[in-house]
Formats: sequence, structure tokens, C-alpha cells
Amino acid sequence: MSKAFDIWIESLAATALPSLPSATGAGDYYPERVVRPNLSSTVAGGKRFHIETFGCQMNAHDSEKVAGVLLERGYRAAENLAQADLVLYNTCSIREKAAQKVFSRLGEFRYASPRKVIAVLGCLAQQEGEEIFERAPWVSLVCGSASYRKLPELLTELEEGGRRVMSLDLDTDETFETEITRRDNPFRAYLTIIEGCDYACSYCVVPHTRGPERSRASDSILSEVRRLADAGYTEIQLLGQTVNSYRDPSPRGIDFVALLRAVAAVEGIRRVRFTTSHPNDFHREIVEAIDEVPALCDHVHLPVQSGSTSILRAMRRTYTRDEYLEKISWVRAASRPISLTTDIIVGFPGETEEDFEETLTLLDTVGYDGVFSFKYSPRPNTTASSMADAVPEEEKSRRLAVAMDRQREIQIARNQKLVGAAFEILVDARHEARGQWAGRSTSNRMVNFTSPRENLLGQYVQVKVTRAGPNSLVGDEVV
Ligand code: SF4
Repeated sequence: MSKAFDIWIESLAATALPSLPSATGAGDYYPERVVRPNLSSTVAGGKRFHIETFGCQMNAHDSEKVAGVLLERGYRAAENLAQADLVLYNTCSIREKAAQKVFSRLGEFRYASPRKVIAVLGCLAQQEGEEIFERAPWVSLVCGSASYRKLPELLTELEEGGRRVMSLDLDTDETFETEITRRDNPFRAYLTIIEGCDYACSYCVVPHTRGPERSRASDSILSEVRRLADAGYTEIQLLGQTVNSYRDPSPRGIDFVALLRAVAAVEGIRRVRFTTSHPNDFHREIVEAIDEVPALCDHVHLPVQSGSTSILRAMRRTYTRDEYLEKISWVRAASRPISLTTDIIVGFPGETEEDFEETLTLLDTVGYDGVFSFKYSPRPNTTASSMADAVPEEEKSRRLAVAMDRQREIQIARNQKLVGAAFEILVDARHEARGQWAGRSTSNRMVNFTSPRENLLGQYVQVKVTRAGPNSLVGDEVV
């Protein structure tokens, strides 16, 4: 790099940014003069990091652990992006929009921030690999979701002046465990118990981006839960792409249900949630455990994806509509009400109007308390992306709107029946403008309520429901 370029970069950093050409998207063009900075030389007196996370709760929790690794190495959290020396994007590639958003963020650095070291982590990093350096040459680190355990070595390489540091290793049976985790939620602690996925749903990138299924040893999980309880956490959410496929790799060899019971038995833990369950591994024993152990929350998220058996087959979901409904019948037969939520995809290749109708009738039959609905989006490295009979985009949008309307009616009717009922709420927010507190019931219902008391954050309170909307309830504290 010549001296002239150094001066150009200095003046670029000092120039009012709005006068620079704005980034237009992913890096299809890269000005030769912009250099990729060296982390050690750009930072004087302490390194500050900023992480932006895209996607699911697993990603959110991965970011908490990545932050822990950085804090352990002496980095400090920056107050905002502008102050950060190291900017990390923990990415999602489950839908095209999420991937585009990341490239658009990277594009913003094309001219503006030659002093920052940029890192791309997670699913998009795994999927795009080296291509990220080509599209955004100012990126210095690319680390796939299955390589997080190597993060300390990768950071050392960066700190020693590495300019293109990358790890995309998928061939591992290890999980990502850290000495420190910077937890962003002060009330609910996330805890990953299983990483990767051994299923092969035809629309899904996860087996490609997160690698094969690998569970964390039960002793390690339980000691972390005990530490969390000692630190004051009362609610634990166990995470995994297929959380209920959990198999303890240690000699103890306990299964998912035994782990649920053990976590719920830790002193100080009042609520245990788990997500996401695969219907194939959803056994009657899970419902029995929820029925018997009050600390296991009365909520099951069981993604169905489609109500049509032929579409389920094309999606390689490994169960039929009837098999799925049989599992729902176990939940409905429990002695305490268990709320049910799901995910659906509309417009999968080959989905006919009749197939779509079957999804609508499934919504009616089950009566979910919440549904995350998506239009099918073809993803690279998936078998569905080359399937014939694509559903036109407008038709996908129409089906999505119809499904959402149908589900909204179902939720209004279900929630209306809860008016007059009382729930125990873990308070996790305060809306000053509305004079309300907010929190969730054990069935994961969002409840906004008023109370004459103060300082309720983190407390469990009884709330009587006075009004109901499709997505939340309103009430007053019972004092
Ligand atoms: S079970 Fe299917 S949808 Fe879920 S992560 Fe695995 S491959 Fe993806």
C-alpha cells in the first residue's frame, strides 16, 4: 500500500460521509484503494465491538456467546456502530430477504469505514464462504455457524494482521461452549442444547449451514442452569433447531424428556421452555412431563409447514397430516391446557389450491394460538430450489394473506375466551406512555396490564384479563 493511499484513507475517514457516493447494495464493485484494515493496528487503547444479529433465537444466543468470547479477550462492547473497531454481522440465510439485508449492510462500508474490521458470521457466512470476500472485499473474517468454537483462534489470526480469515468447517461433533456469555435478556436465559440438524427438509438450508446434529453433554447443561439460577434467572429457554432430538452424548445418556425434568428440578428455576420441536421426535412422554411438572411451560411450538400430506412428502417432512394431528390430540388431551403454535409455508412448488385448502382446514382443526406464516422462498443448495411447478409470486402473496386472515380470526376467538381468566405473568417490560407493564404467561401469551405497584420488572404477578386482541391480552394486576 503506498503512502498516497494512506492519506486517502485518512481523509476519507475525516470526510463528511453524506457527501460520499452511497452504497447501492452488495459489493459488485470494489474501489482498489480501500484497504482491509488490520485489527491490531487500527485500535489504540482497547478494542470495541458491535454485533448485529439477524434471524432466529439460536442466532441471538450465538451472538451472546460470541460477545462472551470477545469480552473474555479484553474487547469492550461499543455503544454504537460508529464507535466500534470490530463490527460483526451474525447472519441468517433461511430466506432470501435476510441474506439480501446482510449484503446491503456490508455495502454501506464500501466507502465509509476503512478503519473498521468487518466480520460475517453464521448461516450466510457458511453458505456464501469465499464469495463474501469477493462481493465485499473489506470483510476480514468469515466464520460459519459450525465453526464458532474456533473463534478464539480466528480472532488471534485477525489480531496478528490476518486479512482474509475464514473457517467453514462443518465436520464436527463439538458444540459451541463459552466461559462467558453476555446475556442480553435479563429475565429469560437462552441455552442451546443441540446444534445442527440431521433432517433434510427439501426447502431448508440449515443442514448445509449448521452441519450435522450434535448435542451438548447433560452435565454441562445442568451446571450452566445452576449457575443461571444462582445469578437470579428463573426462566430458561432450551434451544435447538430440532430441540427434541436431543441425545446426551455423555455416559449418562439421558434423553430429551429426562433433561427437561432435570432442568425443571434445578432450585430457583420456575419456568422451562423449549424450541423448536420436530413433529417426528415429538413423543407422548413430552406431554406427560408438561402435565406432571409445573415448571415446564404449557406451550408447545410444533412446526407443521403444510396441511397437505403430498406437500409434506415433497418437503421431506417425514410425517403425514394424520400423524401430525395425532400428536396434537395428545397435547389437547393433557390435563392442563397447553397452548400450541406452529410455522407454515405457503406456495411450496407444486402446492395446488386443494393443498393450500388443506393447510387452512388444518388451522381450523388445530386452533393454534399463534402461527408464523411464510411464503416459500427458494434457497441455494436445497433440493426444492430446482423443483418444477413454482407457484407465481402473486399467488403466494394471496395465499399468505388468506392464511393470515384465517388465523387472525382463530386467535381473536380463542383469546376472547380468556377474558376474565387470571394468569401468572413474568414482567419483562414497562410502557411508560401507556402506563402499562408487559410480560408473558407460562403459555407464552403476551399480556399488557396496569398495576398500582412499582418496580415490577423481573417479578411474577397475577393478572386478570379484561380485554383480548388477536396477538395479546390486556388486564389488571390482581392485588
Ligand atoms: S428439521 Fe427441516 S426445517 Fe428444521 S432445521 Fe432441520 S432441515 Fe431445516
